[in-house]
Amino acid sequence: MPIYEYACDDCGARYEQIVLSKGTKISCPKCASRRHTLQLSVFSAQAKGSSREAAGNGDSLPSGSCCGMGGCN
Ligand SMILES: [Zn+2]
Repeated sequence: MPIYEYACDDCGARYEQIVLSKGTKISCPKCASRRHTLQLSVFSAQAKGSSREAAGNGDSLPSGSCCGMGGCN
């Protein structure tokens, strides 16, 4: 089933929503706002791994990072 990631336009929260149909109402779990921006292709781009780090926050991890979690030197 399709899961889309949204960013709330009002409070900036990011959340994922399972969209069962086009009529699914999306609202922010934090502020209940209906205004949101769909975050395209994040999910599919990261589907091969379980890492959420690169997808989420715009944190600029070094692309050569071996683990991305800061646990290795
Ligand atoms: Zn919100």
